[in-house]
Amino acid sequence: MGVFLDTVPWSGIVRIRDMMFSVENPYRLDQGDVSFDAPESVKAAMARAVAENRTHYLQSTGLPRLRELLAEKMRRKNAIPVGDIDEVLVTNGGIHALYVMFQALLEPGDEVVLPDPVWPPTWGHTIAARATPVFVPLREEIGWRYDVDELRHAVTSKTRAIYLNSPHNPTGGILTRADIEAIADLARERNLWVFSDEAYEDVRFEGEHVSIGSLPGMYERTIPMFTMSKSYAITGVRVGYLSVKDEQVRDRAKKILLYTTSNVCSIAQYGGIGALEGPQDCIDQFTAELRARRDLFYDGIQRLGGIFSGAPPAGAFYAFVRIDPGWRGAAPHASASWAMAEHLIKHGRIGCVPGADFGAAGEGHVRFCFARERKELTGALESMSRLFSTV
Ligand code: PMP
Repeated sequence: MGVFLDTVPWSGIVRIRDMMFSVENPYRLDQGDVSFDAPESVKAAMARAVAENRTHYLQSTGLPRLRELLAEKMRRKNAIPVGDIDEVLVTNGGIHALYVMFQALLEPGDEVVLPDPVWPPTWGHTIAARATPVFVPLREEIGWRYDVDELRHAVTSKTRAIYLNSPHNPTGGILTRADIEAIADLARERNLWVFSDEAYEDVRFEGEHVSIGSLPGMYERTIPMFTMSKSYAITGVRVGYLSVKDEQVRDRAKKILLYTTSNVCSIAQYGGIGALEGPQDCIDQFTAELRARRDLFYDGIQRLGGIFSGAPPAGAFYAFVRIDPGWRGAAPHASASWAMAEHLIKHGRIGCVPGADFGAAGEGHVRFCFARERKELTGALESMSRLFSTV
């Protein structure tokens, strides 16, 4: 693995984060983190766990009570026919769940169909599993969804899995039920697995969330993956989970869990129990506030004289906007999105992520996270107005 890791890419988001440390009073619209505080139910459960000395080794797969609640949640909310709690594995956040599933299922040379743009760690996970990413563009004109025919054409005899991420980071596109049904048909026909990344299942402004694992015969060939990071605003607590029906793949996944974590932090897992046993109204409250922030942000960028364009996203909390092709960055630059990102950071103190970092189809765009406090969004918009001289 050692030398091979030299070929696994870093995410440009990390490069941006490092650049942001040198900026005074920055507007941090680069990171995909929410500004909300954790629900009381989570904080109280973690405080209780500390007071009760729940600080010892646990089962590698997770606390049984947590897995019971997660299995119940996936059955009830996602309509995934999860059987025994043995199928449920608790991970160190969603990113670890993805690592576990990619390592457990893929062989060197397997092809994995990924969207373009894609959340960069998924790309890294594919390469780290020595598999080959095959990119299929998401089409902006249809709400950043797949053209399913295009997806069908990307499948070859080497394709092992399709990775789905709906709602999608960075574009906010949501696949419709018809899309998911067509992709399920393709997976059944071509005997493919589906990695279903449902990290943003609760962050939706339009449309429904359909878990592909809920469709007939699909859970057997789907590894659904979720995280508590976004739904409960606990990105730093690190509780993610996945569910695997296939015993052999699950057995491998358990080994990866054992060797990478021994167990996920006990206090975090009690926090997860608190989240699921507590009131769920925080989810709707977060979404309502995020909708207001989305509208505020899009209203602001529309006043910038066309420098950024694009429809507000159906889900997730990113503005993935097109840069005016007529804009000429301060310095000659091979990539318009990097030029814009550097311009915004250096001259406007505004963090954002260049679209090129998400893949070839992302070039010409930048991603802003609008899950920040309203005053941070307003400050960033004022700074942009000054920068692009529209005031
Ligand atoms: N999938 C996607 C598409 C994401 O955007 C993220 C977080 N940004 C994750 C998975 C992982 O979330 P976490 O590790 O914070 O639980």
